[in-house]
Amino acid sequence: MTAQQKPDFDAIAVGAGFAGLALIHYLREAGLSIRVIDRAADIGGTWTWNRYPGAMTDSESYYYCLTFSKELLQEWSWTRRYPDWEETHRYMHFVADKIGAWPHIQLNTEVVSADYQEDTGYWLVTTSDGNTSTCKYFVSAMGMISEPVIPKIDGMDKFKGPLFHSSRWPQEGLDYAGKRVGIIGAGATTVQMTPVMAKDAESVTVFQRTPNFILPAMQKPMTPEWEKEIKENYDEIVAKCRNHVFGMAFDSPVGRNVADTPPEEVQRIFEENWTGSFRWVFETFDDLLSNPEANRAASQFIIDKMKERVDDPEIAELLTPSTDDYPLFAKRPPLDHGYLEAFNRDNVHLVDIKDREPIVEITETGVRTSKNLYEFDIIVLATGFRAYTGALEAFPIRGKSGQTLAEKWQKTSNSIMGVCVADFPNLFTITGPQAPFANLPTSIEQNAIWIADCIKKMENEDYDVCAPRQDAEDEWSAHVAEVHEQTLMAEGDKVHSWMMGANIENHKPRVLIYFGGANVYYDKLRESVEAGFPELEFQRLAS
Ligand code: NAP
Repeated sequence: MTAQQKPDFDAIAVGAGFAGLALIHYLREAGLSIRVIDRAADIGGTWTWNRYPGAMTDSESYYYCLTFSKELLQEWSWTRRYPDWEETHRYMHFVADKIGAWPHIQLNTEVVSADYQEDTGYWLVTTSDGNTSTCKYFVSAMGMISEPVIPKIDGMDKFKGPLFHSSRWPQEGLDYAGKRVGIIGAGATTVQMTPVMAKDAESVTVFQRTPNFILPAMQKPMTPEWEKEIKENYDEIVAKCRNHVFGMAFDSPVGRNVADTPPEEVQRIFEENWTGSFRWVFETFDDLLSNPEANRAASQFIIDKMKERVDDPEIAELLTPSTDDYPLFAKRPPLDHGYLEAFNRDNVHLVDIKDREPIVEITETGVRTSKNLYEFDIIVLATGFRAYTGALEAFPIRGKSGQTLAEKWQKTSNSIMGVCVADFPNLFTITGPQAPFANLPTSIEQNAIWIADCIKKMENEDYDVCAPRQDAEDEWSAHVAEVHEQTLMAEGDKVHSWMMGANIENHKPRVLIYFGGANVYYDKLRESVEAGFPELEFQRLAS
């Protein structure tokens, strides 16, 4: 086959969540044919897999959405500040219907390998049904938190009841009313799940290794007045996201540092802004994530707030980190909808598996720690994800030399701006490693725009191959590492932070996230487009 023979599709993308939908929009707009493949039975990505009770967004609804169409923004009405998975899922169906995405989507199909073909510049994509398809551009829209981490605990196969990872919640639902539920892990997922399950379960027992800094979500309904204000100001909201360090519609920078503010004033500002969401971190002071003393002041404020909400001082102590443990944001802080108060109920229990009673094994009937056997009907592994690289390493994606991404990324997980990887021509990744960690729809759209613009250049100028340059990858990775070292997030390796892949057993922690500001990163993507993609080498194959 020569490059002149047309592939089956211009682009094949894996993943029918926000990224898949955005790609359908942007690539179709560029006049390309696209097929989006997903192994799930429905679109939604994260919001189709994570159906656990209480699953909801931590970004506020009105900017946790796609912004490429004013019509989409104006026609959809959110019911509350943070939508649960069902509402987000309904929204995604609304988008798919509105943009006519369905003919481009193939569900219930798993991609099992993707191989770059040097002679044509095409990718050969093999699916679990045994079919193969070719495409010129292969795009990962698989999400940066989608591949679960399953802990290795002795006896896991012995448990008689349902035992599953939180992101593999039974799609048909699970009746846990009156049942004894054990949850292993105490991260953002557990913080959302526990108070909801506690209402109907006979008991909920959380096995906690590391306590988290937990911020209040402060859910509230969307009132007609609030909705009107949002819809009248959507251009400004979208611009705010585009210009914010974490891609959120927050005011920033606030131009104030803890270091320059008298302590009583710091406390007053902390208190005044204690109104829910991550706003508190970004709308109080600019130095919380860079200055250890400022971070310590913020951490202590959170600790005091957390302890106020838990009746039993011993449980309160166990649930809260100390400022000496690790800085705020070295682990991604969960947002809370009643998790802490749930421990005031008689049917919710906390087991400290770090210092007091580590888990020894899972038995037929429950979890055995060094001190007790806890009996359960259901065990949920809320043990997190192999972030950024997991989905890209879960099946072989073989580049130029036949090397897979997993092989390439054994020690470091380098990329160019999280959107492409040296030695993997015509491959694009949405929110790949070394992209920022930000409000995901904002980053997804910025990535999709860069990818669509790059493909438009390829097609307009008749190129067969775009090869990411090794020197550009080295340069970006060095920059990301340098910035990372200047933040307190670099301490995440001490506390198993997924933000450094430090939550994966036998895996060297690494720099996975660009912390130089999502807004700065989006500017860099734009500059790359304007400069004609200097990170890539464009080639024509001999016909
Ligand atoms: P996570 O934050 O990585 O938490 C995993 C938990 O499992 C931690 O408490 C961890 O303990 C524990 N754990 C892992 N391996 C273990 C083992 N072998 N034995 C005992 N405990 C173990 O995972 P997550 O809660 O699923 O959240 C991951 C990320 O997904 C979040 O940070 C967030 O970005 C995203 N998320 C978002 C939302 C939202 O936006 N609405 C909701 C949920 C999740 P250690 O801390 O000691 O490692």
